[in-house]
Amino acid sequence: MKKSNKFYAIEEKYGANNYHPLDVCLSKGKGIWVWDAEGKKYLDFLSSYSAVNQGHCHPKIAMAAAKQMKNLTLTSRAFHNDKLPLFYEKLCKLSKMEKILPMNSGAEAVETAIKAIRKWGYKVKGVEENKAEIIVSHNNFHGRTTTIISFSSDEQYKDGFGPLTLGFKEIPFGDFDALKKAINKNTVAFLTEPIQGEGGIIIPPAGFLKKAQDLCRQNNVLFVLDEIQTGLCRTGKFFAYQWEAGVKPDGIIVGKALSGGFYPISAFLAKKEVMDVFNPGDHGSTFGGNPLASIIAVASLDILVNEKLAENSDKVGKYFVSKLKALKTDYIKEVRGKGLLIGVELKNSAGGARRFCEALMKEGLLCKETHDNIIRFAPPLVIKKNEIDWAMKKIEKVFASI
Ligand SMILES: *Cc1c(COP(=O)(O)O)cnc(C)c1O
Repeated sequence: MKKSNKFYAIEEKYGANNYHPLDVCLSKGKGIWVWDAEGKKYLDFLSSYSAVNQGHCHPKIAMAAAKQMKNLTLTSRAFHNDKLPLFYEKLCKLSKMEKILPMNSGAEAVETAIKAIRKWGYKVKGVEENKAEIIVSHNNFHGRTTTIISFSSDEQYKDGFGPLTLGFKEIPFGDFDALKKAINKNTVAFLTEPIQGEGGIIIPPAGFLKKAQDLCRQNNVLFVLDEIQTGLCRTGKFFAYQWEAGVKPDGIIVGKALSGGFYPISAFLAKKEVMDVFNPGDHGSTFGGNPLASIIAVASLDILVNEKLAENSDKVGKYFVSKLKALKTDYIKEVRGKGLLIGVELKNSAGGARRFCEALMKEGLLCKETHDNIIRFAPPLVIKKNEIDWAMKKIEKVFASI
């Protein structure tokens, strides 16, 4: 019997049934590679949903983390610590934002943004109490808390979890006219992903973000981007919004790769006027901004910059997309992406993306379907062209044989 089967049995016996993982049990990772409990090697094309942009177990992050673990790990925010300022300064400078608030998971950082936006609406814009509206995009993914699922358009995310939180209005993703119509005197923000990740690697019409931002400014509405998946070099720029000239959001939400895959850390970044609505006691987190997380975030950010991972993502991403587009197959409807955030949408006749992911896994490539018909390719950003060539041979084989 496979060693992994024992692990699956224990998981099934004790664990909640809230995931449907592929039939592979990982026990080791290095760079773009992972190994299963049987010792088989795979190329990781998911990167934990873009949380390991720097590659698995990057030695520089491991070293920084190990050193900090022996020194000081948690102080709570009741006291200052000497690592948090290093993280604040580094991320604010890299993102050209004035202020930061650290949390742990992505969803918590989104919740933080929502609280800041609403309070700004009441205290600064002067919206009547409990009337604030936040405009969001159809097909969004911002996390799984009760408030966040309240504005999801996926019925499964909401089913059985009511009563839901009010105060959100949905527009089709990338629809400028709909945004214009949706704005009223109670609108406090437009919150969107610059490219929808979980939604299926959906890219808005060219120029949408800049136009949306200008419209928001004209109406005293905050323009806030969730860059949790698209940010930190994933799309070939530090932030995905930088693909459009002149975009400068009022708030940015980051998470995932801020951790280098080591330890959850997320943040809400904003202009001063927005962040200044928070007073002591308004918001917080026991673990948010602890010295261990801070040092890991600093190391993770240094790697993105020093190893030029935005440039590599852009270069290798373009190469990979050109290869995928040249694939000889009748199953593919569209290949789309920016940098190394790539979606391959299959035709209905392909019989679903899951069976392709399962076949790719047998060939040593780990991918996960998003929705029923889209395969996402999002390897760690340290991947090289020759490694894409190796993967393309496997991809060709799977598409030819299925
Ligand atoms: C993953 C993700 C989140 C949620 O992050 P968690 O760490 O899973 O809570 C939020 N927004 C976007 C765009 C994401 O991709």
